[in-house]
Amino acid sequence: MFKLPIPNILYSEVLDACIAGITGNPILKGKLTSDKNDLLNKAIDYDTFTPLAQLHRIHPVTASNTKITTNLTKEDLKKLYTQYFTPADKPAGVVYDRLRMICKDECPFCAGIGTPENLDHFLAKSKFPQFSVFPNNLVPSCRDCNMGEKGQTHPSNPNEQYLHPFLDDDIFYNEQWVFATYHPPYQASAAIEFFTNPPLKWQNFQRARACKHFIDFNIKARYAKLAANELVSTLDQMRKLLKLGFSAKVVTETICEPIYNHSKGPNHWRTVMYMALEDHLIVNGSLD
Ligand SMILES: [Zn+2]
Repeated sequence: MFKLPIPNILYSEVLDACIAGITGNPILKGKLTSDKNDLLNKAIDYDTFTPLAQLHRIHPVTASNTKITTNLTKEDLKKLYTQYFTPADKPAGVVYDRLRMICKDECPFCAGIGTPENLDHFLAKSKFPQFSVFPNNLVPSCRDCNMGEKGQTHPSNPNEQYLHPFLDDDIFYNEQWVFATYHPPYQASAAIEFFTNPPLKWQNFQRARACKHFIDFNIKARYAKLAANELVSTLDQMRKLLKLGFSAKVVTETICEPIYNHSKGPNHWRTVMYMALEDHLIVNGSLD
């Protein structure tokens, strides 16, 4: 839900750093050196297919002894990540840290609800080991968005591909597709209810992808929780101004507009919440 800049890190240099860091395993070092170009070519497919929602064309592997390139097995490539990419004392360790810093402490999958602590494989390394150390497949994510379970179900058609923070179409990040309704207090507290309504001009698979992302990352409930915390004080402010005799227009211009005009994108929970409050007050003339 947040777009991140494509990592300015050359994959070939990452592989070279991994090769330089392999000590005590000359066989793996030799295999990686000879198969480096195979891995670079597979990464070209990844970069081509991702923005087209065609990642399902890359098939998952299951058996650990499956050859992924001429010489490298699935186990070799998983080991490459855990033993020669993530450890801080290995030459490739700096790449891990640079990738983690790209997100500026805001998780791209949930539009900053959580703070990323780790890098996550967009395509799981257990099924797509050819991308185990490919920078574009390593996305910072928060604990709640971790692809762990989700990664076990890879896309089988264009509708099922999650939004990719580095490579996906700008429409998902620049156009509004998350909306909300304000529910005034009636036998219960006031609440903001979030829902998806992607633009009709989008293609069907694009609409399906946005909705799947919203559901599988549990955005509805997570947004509602944040909104509920802020709603109490916001309603208090707005009601006070209405009581003082200010019009609905002035109240929304004072309270809502500054928030959504300076928020973090059209689908951020705060943007959507304040637009919903504005709509409700303008149409109904009251927040109760
Ligand atoms: Zn997150």
